[in-house]
Amino acid sequence: MLYLDNSATTKIHPEVLDAMMPYLKEEYGNPSSKYYSLAENAKKAVARAREHVAALFGCDSDEVVFTSGATESNNMIIKGVADYYGSLDDANNYLLTTKVEHPSVIETFNYLGDRGYEVSFLEVDQYARVDFQKIKEGIEKRPLLTSIIWGNNEVGSINPINEISALFEENGLFLHTDATQVVGKVPVNLKETKGIRFLSMSGHKIGGPKGIGAAIVRKQSNEIFTKITPLLHGGGQENNYRSGTLAVHNIVGLGKAAELALNKLEQNVNRLNELENYLMNILKSNFSGRIKFNSDVKNKIPGLISIQFIGVNNELLLKKLSNYVALSTGSACSATKPSHVLSAAGKSLGEIRQTVRVTLSPNLSESDLDFFKQIQ
Ligand code: PLP
Repeated sequence: MLYLDNSATTKIHPEVLDAMMPYLKEEYGNPSSKYYSLAENAKKAVARAREHVAALFGCDSDEVVFTSGATESNNMIIKGVADYYGSLDDANNYLLTTKVEHPSVIETFNYLGDRGYEVSFLEVDQYARVDFQKIKEGIEKRPLLTSIIWGNNEVGSINPINEISALFEENGLFLHTDATQVVGKVPVNLKETKGIRFLSMSGHKIGGPKGIGAAIVRKQSNEIFTKITPLLHGGGQENNYRSGTLAVHNIVGLGKAAELALNKLEQNVNRLNELENYLMNILKSNFSGRIKFNSDVKNKIPGLISIQFIGVNNELLLKKLSNYVALSTGSACSATKPSHVLSAAGKSLGEIRQTVRVTLSPNLSESDLDFFKQIQ
């Protein structure tokens, strides 16, 4: 089976699995326990993993909050900021985002909208990128939080995050970015993008295990932690942001995946670009006049290609090929609910139903992709 759905999830990296195994077997201590070596070993392993995640993002290790994944990070940050800062200022309950966020952002905004917050969703261009001018206008009302996806999971377009970050830094406003799809594919350095106050990511998108991710919550200054209402109250783990016994094996796996993502960033990106060029040439020659690309080829996530196969129903195509290749329509797309991302980018229902997302892995070979020469 040719796996081309690497934006949905990735195969766990063998080094990640090896790093995790001791913490599923003999090293089963609770890192919150004290004095004995099993607990101390677990604590040290968590601390090492935290350092690796911090290094990947260019932040301090105490700014890393382990969560169950990007869905939780998005919920925690958005609800937590809305609740804490909303309760400080009766006159302001405004929250801003875009129309092309992952459902874990969109639905969190909708939830808060139902509970009386004023929520706004910014329009996007034909590649599902947000317009810088519209953000400028959007923040005139000084939102409590603005959430802007770094790289889109359906079409791969990358937002101008450096300029956006600078705008928020200048204006002293809170910016959150969902970086789930760009981690390991573009350099993320929060020392250079100081306007990003919050970031979300998931381990399983970068060769880590499922059920683990991180929320990066930047400090206001060296010692002062940003205040957010936690989603999970309890024993006070993770700087009180996220209570619950730490999933040490998963955290160790995330740490290893983060280390690999950072060390192999350039190598992986080069390989993804090579494979993508190879595949694009096959597609262009084999399907000449019968395909359209939905992504902005100049500024997008390497290895993510969103293609419209003109006149071909995507679900039927995917089902027909399902014994040979794993592909995606890009999102859960049903008769009643077509992709909100492609709709926002101006695609018709017909075009959306012909769209297929291919997401590559650096571990593929050119001969794997020759599969597309056989499809007519
Ligand atoms: N954000 C983006 C952009 C994603 O692509 C995904 C997963 O597809 C998520 C958030 C949610 O990640 P998870 O399901 O690991 O919580």
